[in-house]
Amino acid sequence: MRGFIPTLGLNIVYRMCIFVKIAAMSSTLSFLLSDPSLPIALKAIAQKVQQGERISPEEGILLYEKADLSYLGVLANFIREQKHGHKTYFNRNFHIEPTNLCVYDCKFCSYSRLLKQKEEGWQFTKEDMLNIVKSYDGQPVTEVHIVGGVLPQYDVDFYVDLFQSIRAHRADLHIKALTPVEFHYIFKKAKIDYATGMKLMKEAGLNSIPGGGAEIFAPEIREQIAKDKCTGDQWLEIHEIWHNLGMRSNATMLYGHIESYAHRIDHMEQLRQLQDRTAGFQTFIPLKFRNQDNQLSHLTEVSVLEDLRNYAISRIYLDNFDHIKAYWAMISRQTAQLSLSFGVDDIDGTLDDTTKIYTMAGAEEQNPAMSTQELVNLIKQVGRHPLERDTHYHVIQDFKDVVFEDEVKPNYYPLPVLN
Ligand code: SF4
Repeated sequence: MRGFIPTLGLNIVYRMCIFVKIAAMSSTLSFLLSDPSLPIALKAIAQKVQQGERISPEEGILLYEKADLSYLGVLANFIREQKHGHKTYFNRNFHIEPTNLCVYDCKFCSYSRLLKQKEEGWQFTKEDMLNIVKSYDGQPVTEVHIVGGVLPQYDVDFYVDLFQSIRAHRADLHIKALTPVEFHYIFKKAKIDYATGMKLMKEAGLNSIPGGGAEIFAPEIREQIAKDKCTGDQWLEIHEIWHNLGMRSNATMLYGHIESYAHRIDHMEQLRQLQDRTAGFQTFIPLKFRNQDNQLSHLTEVSVLEDLRNYAISRIYLDNFDHIKAYWAMISRQTAQLSLSFGVDDIDGTLDDTTKIYTMAGAEEQNPAMSTQELVNLIKQVGRHPLERDTHYHVIQDFKDVVFEDEVKPNYYPLPVLN
């Protein structure tokens, strides 16, 4: 059953959480470093983390191959609490997905329909999308997230017009939209280079770009799962150009399909190097491959324990990224709670049931929406400090001591809190 961690696994995870909490209370890694049974290579990595030093790609692969969940959790939680303490961020946002039709045919994609499957698709006009934006008038949302399929009619002129129109209607709404997959396609079609295109997007009112389309950068994997769309190098180049315009973006990695651990580390290494050059990334978001209704359905999904290991290694490896985010709608509310002890400090937003990308891939949340109260409770249940943020992580409201009227008891499982 999706979203259900078998009892044994759940107990293990809970014990790991308790372990992480106990270790974190010392605020150093001495507890771990004094463990005589810890292999020398893992002790060396722990020492590096304690001293704030960067680990190498070889050490990153070693973590995937040799480190157990408790060790990874202690290191990742140490870094997370050094950077943020118990602070845990979320935002109030909604999505617009212009179309689920796409000229590309990515093997892992459960969301898109090919042009020849038009009857299963939707295509929003600019007016449709503006009406969605207008439906949030007067509501305290701070961000609209716009991504979807790639179609010829959604071209440079269309998006310039769309962004200008949203901006004219609601100047305070942060527009986070499109990925290098769309940018590469629309700029090529318009016969303009990336630098010209990204400048146009900025001038039209685009505020930031989300992390999607990164998948796995390694050409030998990308060629098999996402043939024809922008390459890993092109993805990185577009983000670099955007950062050099003084703008910010996020980064993702699709894991748990046909890639190896070395491919994951190579992916993160390329992000880390770009971040060294620009400091333009805000958040890294590991995205779990889901196997429902796509061309890789024969693959078994990785376990929740592997998800937690992956969050933790991401936190340890990407020393120059401020934030690690878990999409609660993709991994379930319970796993999102657990992830907060494995390096994650952001669990995304309220969503308001406005995205189909996760649900069509088989995510547990088939109608992903949480009230602010539910999100806050979810974070508080695991002893963390909820903060509503804007897209750039400025705090909008501190919910630490907020007591909601008509408090409704949520029905998901509370984790033990030891501090
Ligand atoms: S992942 Fe994106 S680019 Fe690939 S088929 Fe799906 S919608 Fe199209």
